[in-house]
Amino acid sequence: MLNSYFADMHIHIGRDIYNKPVKITASKNLTLTNILIEASRRKGIDMVGIIDCHSPAVQEEILQLIHKEEAFELQDGGIRFENVTLILGSEIEVYDEFCKGPIHVLCYFPTLHNIHVFSKWLAGKMKNITLSSQRYYGSAKELQYKVKELEGLFIPAHVFTPFKSLYGKGVTESLTEVFDADLIDGIELGLSSDTKMADQIEELHRYTFLTNSDSHSLAKIGREYQQIKMVEPSFQEFNYALHGVDGRKISTNFGMNPKLGKYYTTVCQQCMKSVDFLTVECPYCESKKIVNGVFDRIQQLRSTKESSPKRPPYTYQVPLEYLPGLGPKTFETLLDHFSTEMNIIHYVSGEKLMKLIPEKIAKMILDMRNGVLGIEAGGGGKYGRVKMYKK
Ligand SMILES: [Zn+2]
Ligand SMILES: [Zn+2]
Repeated sequence: MLNSYFADMHIHIGRDIYNKPVKITASKNLTLTNILIEASRRKGIDMVGIIDCHSPAVQEEILQLIHKEEAFELQDGGIRFENVTLILGSEIEVYDEFCKGPIHVLCYFPTLHNIHVFSKWLAGKMKNITLSSQRYYGSAKELQYKVKELEGLFIPAHVFTPFKSLYGKGVTESLTEVFDADLIDGIELGLSSDTKMADQIEELHRYTFLTNSDSHSLAKIGREYQQIKMVEPSFQEFNYALHGVDGRKISTNFGMNPKLGKYYTTVCQQCMKSVDFLTVECPYCESKKIVNGVFDRIQQLRSTKESSPKRPPYTYQVPLEYLPGLGPKTFETLLDHFSTEMNIIHYVSGEKLMKLIPEKIAKMILDMRNGVLGIEAGGGGKYGRVKMYKK
C-alpha cells in the first residue's frame, strides 16, 4: 500500500474565477487547472478534493482536460492529472426546518457522470448553481439520500466554526437533530480544532476525522491535510480509508495548531479582546458582536472525559509560507532544490536545509516536523501566529 497525501481544497473557484477573475500572481489565475498543477508539481500532494465541481463551468474545464488527454477518469473514481488525483466535490449550505443555523456539508462523487446528475438535481434546489457553498432549499436528510443514491460521500464541513457549521450554529447538541447518523462518512474538523478536542464529543467517536485545508488560494493548498494508507489515490480507496476497510486508513492528520485558527477563543469582534464564552455585551467596549470560540463551544458540548477511540496521530503543521522569515524567495529556492513542499516538510534532512537557508528557518521547519513550534492564539476572525525565532 502507498502513503498518499490528501488535501481537500475548498477552493471557491466557482465564485472566484468564473464570475470575477482573481489574479494569484502575474501568470496564475485561480483555475481548476492551476490548482491541479500547483498540487501536482509544487505541493507534492497525491489527491486533492475541489468543492466547486458541481458548477457547470468547472465540469466543462475537466472535460476539456480529458479531451486534450491531459487528464483521465480512473476506474475506481476520481480524475488523474499528472501526479495528482482530483476528487470531485461540492460544498453546500443546508438550512432546513430542523437546523438552528446554516450548516456547510461536503459531498464527493466518484465520476463526472454522477456529479453531473447531482448538479442537475441541485439546480432545481438552488438559486445559482455556478457559485460555491450556496444555500440549498431542501432537507438535510433528502440531500444525504441523494448523495448515497449517486454513490457519493457525505461529510459535514469544518464542524465547529462559529457561523456556518454543524456544531457552530446548526444544532443545539447533537448531529441527529438534523442528519441521519448512518449516512455520514467522516467529519471535517476545521482549522480551530484537533482530534483531541473533537473526541470530547462522544457521538463523533464512530467517525473518521478529516483535516482539510479549506483553502481559498494556491499557497494555502495543504494548509491541513492527511496521510492516507491506500492502494492508489482514487475515490474508492478514499472511501475505504474513511471506513477502515482492509487496512486502508488515515495514518496521520496534519493540521495547524488549533490556536492558529481564526476562532479558537471567544473574542469581541469590535475591540478584539478575549471575553468569556456566551458573553452578551463586551465588558470593555459594550459591543454585542461576540464571536464564540471553538474551544469554549466544545467545552459546552463535551459528553465524555475518557475512553476516546484509537486515532491516528495528529501532527501540528503549517504551510511553509506561514513561517515568519520564510519569504517567497526562500520558498522558491527550496522548491528549486527539493521539488515539492511535502518533500521539504517531511523528508529533507536538517543538514541539507541548513546548507541552503538560514539556520533559524531550517530549525523552524524541523520543529514543525516534530510538532513543537511556538504559537500565539487567534480568535474573533483573526488568525493566530507562529512565533518568530530569535536566532
Ligand atoms: Zn464552508
Ligand atoms: Zn469589545
